[in-house]
Formats: sequence, C-alpha cells, structure tokens
Amino acid sequence: MGIVFAQADGGGLVANPVAEQLLGRPLKGASLEMTGVNPIVLTTDGKPVRREDVPIVRALLTGQLAGPEEFLILHPDGSRLPVLMTAAPVFGPSGKVRGVVSTAQDVTTRHELDRLREEYVSLISHDLRNPLHTISLRVGLLRRALRERNLEREESMTESIQRSVAWMNTMIEDLLEGSRLESQRETLRREPRDLARFLEEVMERDVAPDVRERFHLEVPGALPPIWMDAARLERVMANLLSNAAKYSPGGQPITVRAQLQPEQVVVSVKDLGPGLSPEDAARVFDKYFRTQKSGASDTKGLGLGLYISRLIIEAHGGRIWVESEPGQGSTFSFSLPVAPPGASPLPLQLPDDQAPAAGDGSAVSA
Ligand code: ADP
Repeated sequence: MGIVFAQADGGGLVANPVAEQLLGRPLKGASLEMTGVNPIVLTTDGKPVRREDVPIVRALLTGQLAGPEEFLILHPDGSRLPVLMTAAPVFGPSGKVRGVVSTAQDVTTRHELDRLREEYVSLISHDLRNPLHTISLRVGLLRRALRERNLEREESMTESIQRSVAWMNTMIEDLLEGSRLESQRETLRREPRDLARFLEEVMERDVAPDVRERFHLEVPGALPPIWMDAARLERVMANLLSNAAKYSPGGQPITVRAQLQPEQVVVSVKDLGPGLSPEDAARVFDKYFRTQKSGASDTKGLGLGLYISRLIIEAHGGRIWVESEPGQGSTFSFSLPVAPPGASPLPLQLPDDQAPAAGDGSAVSA
C-alpha cells in the first residue's frame, strides 16, 4: 500500500517507497500543487483530471474524506497503472486541517480477477445455450405429438417446461449481454431514429397483450432524430416496461413519456406501484441487486436488467435514474444526447449547477 502525507499550507510531501513506486517517480522535495490539470493522474477511461479532483487535494480543500476512487497513473515510460486512491484529513488540536494522509493501492490483480470471472461467466453461458436450444426444439415436437393424441395433462407439462426454458434463455442472454457490455468488446451500432415511432413499436412488440391497455404513450411536441443502437435501447425499454408491469399491481396505469430538453431527450416510465425506499433506489442499478421484497416474492429476476440498462444508456452518452417514494410509485427515466456521436466532446467536468437536470423530487442517479 502506498502512503503519502501532504502538509497543509504549502508544506512538502512525505511518501513511503511503495507510493513512489506506484507513482513511478520519487516524491522527495516535491510539494502539492492545487490547481490546473494533473499531468500524471488520468480517469479510468484515460481523460485528464483537474488537481482539485484528485483525492489528496480534495481532502485538503474540503477537510473531508475523499475516495476511494480509481484512477490511472501515467508512468514516465508511457504505461498506465490502475490505482485506487483514498485521502483523509488530519486535524490539529484547534480543529484546523494540518494535512492529509492518502493511500494508493495497485488494483491490476483485481482487474485481472474481474476479467477472468467475466470470461468464465461468458464461457459457461455460451455452453448452456446449445443444450437449451435442443431441449426447446424437442419439447416443441413432443408437445405436438401429445396434442395429436389428446393427452391434455401431459401437454400442459410440456408448456411449463417451455416456460422454464424461455426463462433460462433470458437469464443466459442477460449474463452474456452484461459481460459483453462490461468488457466493451462490442461497440454500439448507432443510427438516427424517430424516437416516438421507436417507442410505439417497442410498446407494440414488448408489452404482453394482457397488460397492454395499462400503458399510455405521451410525446408532447416534436422530437429530433436520435442516434441510437435500436436493438440495445429496445432491451432497456423492454426491461423498464416489464418491471413497471411486474412490480405494480392490478390495473393501475403506466405512463411512458418522451420529452425534448436542451441538448437531450428524456424518456420516462412511470408506474403507481409500491415504489422504492431511498436505500433501495440508490442501489437498483447495481449488478445483481434485487430489493429484499422482490427476492422474497415469486417475481422472477436476476437483478441484471437495470444494471444492463445503465451500461447501455451510459454507452450512448446518457444517464439513467429513478424518482420514487415508498407507496407513491416509481418513475424510471433516461436521457439521450440529441447531437450525433462525437459531435460535441463533453467538457472535463460540468459544474454542479450546469449538470443535466434529473427532474424534481428525490432522484437517485446511477
Ligand atoms: P429483476 O427485475 O430481474 O430483479 P432489475 O435489475 O430489472 O432486475 O430490477 C432490480 C430490482 O429493482 C428489482 O428486483 C425490484 O426489486 C426493483 N424494481 C425494478 N423496477 C421496479 C419498479 N418499477 N417498482 C418497484 N421496484 C422495482
């Protein structure tokens, strides 16, 4: 573990040898600079970082714990080392910040383990697909044969086998899609699409006929064409629509809305179901997360749907969030940029007051 101590008031830096090794340079005699862009610290996707956003400086400026947050350290030979940084202020007897202790940890091995785990999930999922396909074909034939012989009870058993096979296929597809998106092996296939028409088609295709009349589409005003990977966005919509129906009881209405905002469109799916506690709302976009209630009930799910939706929306340069209160229903929304991909690079970091609005109420962003 690398440890660095920075004194407040422009004092020098003290570092242990591991910290110098992680940073790829000696720190003796160095002092902490507080402004400008840090030349050796990059975000995990290789973008520059302002000095005040690096935990050691942030903790000094705010007097609060900063991190843990992952960065890439640019070494003099051009290589990049993934490092997890945390920083905590140290207070003097008067309560004034005397300095900051920062720790840095090499997370290369952890990344390698994550990669192996994903590879393993992906291999197993692939191998499960073929026998399932065979089961599905054979059960279809068996069902026909049973129907011809008027064996109704036996035929209904094959129906339940087919439902289970379909459910397993969905889980395998989710596991595979999650690992494909995480590894960024696949890029989006984006093309400009009419969003209102797209939403109509998706609702036609993906909402089960028995709950169709609960769904209403509202598109106030015209929308510009949106650059999207339609197959992937359909997965997001199908998930939000099926969750709204699955988790909200009875015949209560579900409203799908698409609205133009400055430089983005926002699509939302609003239900009048049980809603989410703030703790659950903060975690619904995490991998494998299911609320205790849905884990205990018989609603099926792996807790991957919203996680995959988040990866897809973020890959489009958008954001996904939920506004909800227990007993008051939930509104899941996502934004998509109106500009074509690559048209306007995002600024380094938007000041808080210019960040895209997440709507009113207790919004929890992924
Ligand atoms: P799954 O539905 O497969 O469990 P998701 O990732 O789609 O996984 O959803 C994660 C969890 O979020 C669900 O298990 C459920 O507890 C909660 N959730 C999702 N949508 C809603 C909703 N519309 N209303 C209430 N809870 C929801």
